[in-house]
Amino acid sequence: MKNIGIDIGGTFIKAAIVENTGKIILSSKTPTPKDGASLPEKVVEIIRELTDKAGVAISDIEHIGMGVPGVCDVKHGRVISCTNIEGCSNVSICEYVSKQTGVPSFIDNDANCAALGEYMMSKTKPNGFVFVTLGTGVGGGIILNGKILRGINCAAGEIGHIVIDKAGERCNCGRYGCWERYASVSALVRQTKQAGFTGNVTGKTVFEERIKGNRLADEVLDTWLRYVAEGICDLVNIFQPEVVAIGGGISREGDIILKPVREFVEKNVVTAPTSLKKTEIKISQLFNDAGVVGASFLYTQN
Ligand SMILES: [Zn+2]
Repeated sequence: MKNIGIDIGGTFIKAAIVENTGKIILSSKTPTPKDGASLPEKVVEIIRELTDKAGVAISDIEHIGMGVPGVCDVKHGRVISCTNIEGCSNVSICEYVSKQTGVPSFIDNDANCAALGEYMMSKTKPNGFVFVTLGTGVGGGIILNGKILRGINCAAGEIGHIVIDKAGERCNCGRYGCWERYASVSALVRQTKQAGFTGNVTGKTVFEERIKGNRLADEVLDTWLRYVAEGICDLVNIFQPEVVAIGGGISREGDIILKPVREFVEKNVVTAPTSLKKTEIKISQLFNDAGVVGASFLYTQN
């Protein structure tokens, strides 16, 4: 059985033909159209190109799933708003794509899709799964009993806006001291610069500098990781998930991130110190493919 997963981003649209095992057969990457209203046509064009190239008939595709960086009306297959793509509000994308291709199509928020991808590809389907992406902001998705926690507006899982310091920095959402203002990669870059690092500072700078024995880099990293750990500890307290997976490009740093976060959570979670089951905190497996793979599995959610 083959499905198509599409991960619509502010800059690129990634698409893939994915087997129901999660294996990617063929993928593509296309610039996102400037005019968001033309998104449905663009998606159909991408699907046609991809299936042509793979030598797969559209009639052999069972489902199409799309992840969108915004708020969706999942039930009616509509994008409600999408801050990164201009003109992309109230677009009935599923209706158009289904009609043009003859394939049932589904939509959800991109972070939910990534969470679903990670969940579906995990060997054991964890009983309670929280996916945390560290990037420009802090995004996430929560899967309980095999279903994406969508909330009344399909916009649940906005974990980046947990307030960890109400006297803190102003967030784009209008409040002060949101977790993503401290634990995102953008925050790490800002913290690195504030510590006096100059030149081309990126999220990797402190990781590279600490290997060279730079103590200041260690300090910056420790502070940032503490912020990351505080939020994850909150999530473990709220959901007691079996697994928390950390994603985003920075997660490739692996144990440097995992070790202190695990230690902090283990010590501070409300069930500590007991012999009760522990939440497993790990690095995501799929990296850049989580979005398309998860989107291809959206049909399991309806
Ligand atoms: Zn916020």
